[in-house]
Amino acid sequence: MPPMRSGKGDDIEMIRSITQKKSEEEIDRLLNGLGRIFIIGCGTCVTLTRTGGEPEVLEMKENLSEKGKMITGHTVVPVACDNLTREFLDDFGEQIDQADTLLIMTCAFGVQTIAKQLRKMVVPALDTLFVGKETAFGMFDEICTQCGTCIIGETGGICPVTNCHKGLVNGPCGGTNHGKCEIDVAKDCVWTLIYNRLKELDRLDAMRKYQKPRNHQGEPKPGKFKLTSA
Ligand code: SF4
Ligand code: SF4
Repeated sequence: MPPMRSGKGDDIEMIRSITQKKSEEEIDRLLNGLGRIFIIGCGTCVTLTRTGGEPEVLEMKENLSEKGKMITGHTVVPVACDNLTREFLDDFGEQIDQADTLLIMTCAFGVQTIAKQLRKMVVPALDTLFVGKETAFGMFDEICTQCGTCIIGETGGICPVTNCHKGLVNGPCGGTNHGKCEIDVAKDCVWTLIYNRLKELDRLDAMRKYQKPRNHQGEPKPGKFKLTSA
């Protein structure tokens, strides 16, 4: 997905699609019987997370060549999930024609965009984990699971659905210990963070608001949204 900006001025943070490389065994299995491969990386999110930028594409090329695959070509497109990717890939038409499959080192948005644009089998080399932001150098945190029922107006802008390991929305579990989470003791219990934030804002009354049981079935898939005026 294209990066989105949040914050202002020096606080600008880029929202990214966070990915990790599939295991070598899985990539080998997905490419079994496919001898000629064109590799595509992306210049945005996966370059930042070092899962599908130029160095990773070249490493993949070396690795697959050593395994006897013929790499018909490779490239790193500027923004894989953008419709302009088609035009960019036109320059590689012959190399793509020669390939059995496209090995795509982008997030799932990029893979699906390219799959729609080209009549070729696609194999994703990465797993897409979540939409997140960089919180420290090389560290990415999920910020929203897009649950469809946002409650952060009552939790001081801190999301328990995403940040509590149990997704609890009505206060902490019994395992919270000195402000730390029982599942990951290195992590603050999100309900301690929410309490502290609401106290700071003199809005502790919001802690008493009962959140109704949540619909974990979520929206029917695939999700759709229509402007009411459209
Ligand atoms: S409650 Fe959390 S997961 Fe749900 S929409 Fe709001 S921020 Fe996202
Ligand atoms: S300790 Fe806090 S963050 Fe961890 S699971 Fe329990 S309520 Fe959630």
